[in-house]
Amino acid sequence: MPGLTGSWLNPVDDLSARLPNGAGTQGPLDGSSASSPDAEVARLAAPLARAWLAASAAALRDGVHPHITSGRRSRAHQQRIFDRAVVRYGSVREARRWVLPPENSAHVKGRAVDVGPRESASWLEEHGARYGLCRRYANEWWHFELLVRPGGACPALVPDATG
Ligand SMILES: [Zn+2]
Repeated sequence: MPGLTGSWLNPVDDLSARLPNGAGTQGPLDGSSASSPDAEVARLAAPLARAWLAASAAALRDGVHPHITSGRRSRAHQQRIFDRAVVRYGSVREARRWVLPPENSAHVKGRAVDVGPRESASWLEEHGARYGLCRRYANEWWHFELLVRPGGACPALVPDATG
């Protein structure tokens, strides 16, 4: 469809472009934002925003430069990326392994961040618990939520978002 290559289409929002055959091995498939880093943080739920600011400052001191590739999403945006995932994966069940519908998504509540680049996510996986931030899913290295009190121990990863 020629129209899909038009410049109106946000390339980071194009699920098919982000998911070549590797089924998520390339990085987040669940959308991204073109807004500034500060604006992205401001839209998060306040406890997550505070944790993110503290963690990212510490990361910078370690020479790591984390950024939010996707934070809070509108219900409409989440529905669009979920609908695309259903088409992409062929079933609601398989799609839910990668993208949750709006009523279940922590991103819609402002309670999840997708983090890049990969070395920053690795740093956060190692040190995030100091700030309460934990990776949640085994199949999404980029997805973090505020899951414990600062200094707590992150729970074991669940296999994917259906778990
Ligand atoms: Zn996510």
